[in-house]
Formats: sequence, structure tokens, C-alpha cells
Amino acid sequence: MKCFTHPDRDAVAVCSVCGQGLCEGCSVRIAGKLYCKSDADKIFGREAERAEKYVRPASITVAAILFFIFGALGIISGLVFSAFAGSAASFTSVPFIGPLTGVTAAGILLIGLVILVFGILYLVAGNWLWDGLRRGGILGIALSIISILVSLPLLFVLGPLALFLGPLVALAGLSIVIDILLIVLITVGWSSLR
Ligand SMILES: [Zn+2]
Ligand SMILES: [Zn+2]
Repeated sequence: MKCFTHPDRDAVAVCSVCGQGLCEGCSVRIAGKLYCKSDADKIFGREAERAEKYVRPASITVAAILFFIFGALGIISGLVFSAFAGSAASFTSVPFIGPLTGVTAAGILLIGLVILVFGILYLVAGNWLWDGLRRGGILGIALSIISILVSLPLLFVLGPLALFLGPLVALAGLSIVIDILLIVLITVGWSSLR
């Protein structure tokens, strides 16, 4: 069987509505069923066309990859933090941060769990952005704004203590730069999201 539109190409499927042969380029898969383009348009309207033709701009690709990276980092550091809550050693040396005097084990566990949840949300945002979904842009911008709101006080409150908390202050500053970058990337690619 040959493609109805391209008689020189072999059909790889048939339209589930009209039964005509479809080559690779002519078949549209929606919810597990194959259609020819005109039937897909008739049944699903512009949605099918947009689903088929979505081209992810570079800005959204970069943003999605950054969300994947920070999601993974968040999950790992959240787990490490939570694990440290169980050991007394945590109070004298937390990786990259140093001594956390005056913070209880429950406090460290809570911080770890919050970081873990944010890591998961970052992965979700990255995944939605990768698929070009507008909700990925909304979640991504919301997470970046929350991250800035958390990092700013860290930067200014802990700034004077930089002698002891240098790495943490540097992380907060770096985080703000990356958050602003993420918001810019999503904004640039916003019109492509659906
Ligand atoms: Zn058809
Ligand atoms: Zn064809």
C-alpha cells in the first residue's frame, strides 16, 4: 500500500477515519490513534496542528535543561540535608555551608524536605517546558520568583557574616543570577508555549 498523498512512498499506517494510506510524514498520532492531516484537523481543530508542529525555541530548551539540572541538584541536596539531620555531626559541618550552630535536627530535616520538594517541582517545570506547555512557563517563573525571594534576604542578612558563611552567600548570589536568567529565557520563548 502506498501513501494517498505521496504515491511514491510506502504507507506505514492508515487513517482511522477515512482509511487512506499514510506515509511517515502524513500520519498524525493523537491519543494513540492515527489520522490523516485533514481528518485530524476536522476532529481536533487547530490543537492537532499545533501539537504536531510545535518547534521548541532555543530559549525554552535551555530553560528546560537548567530546570532539569537544578531539579536534580535540589533532590540530591535535599536528600543529603535530610540525611544529615539524623547525625550529630551535621551541627559542626554541613557540606558547602559549614557549621550550623543553633539549628535543631528537626530544623535541618525541614530545610532538607523543602529543598527536596522544590527539586521535584523544578523537574516538573522542566518537563512541562520541554513539551512546550504554558503551565511549565508559569510554574518556572513562579519557582524562580520564590527562589529570588528566598535568596535575597540570605544575601543581605548573611552578607555581613560572609566570613563564616561565604559559600552560602555566594550560592545565594549565584542563585539570583540564574533565577533572573530563567525568567528571561521563559519570557523570550513565552509566545511559543501553548
Ligand atoms: Zn483520514
Ligand atoms: Zn505521505
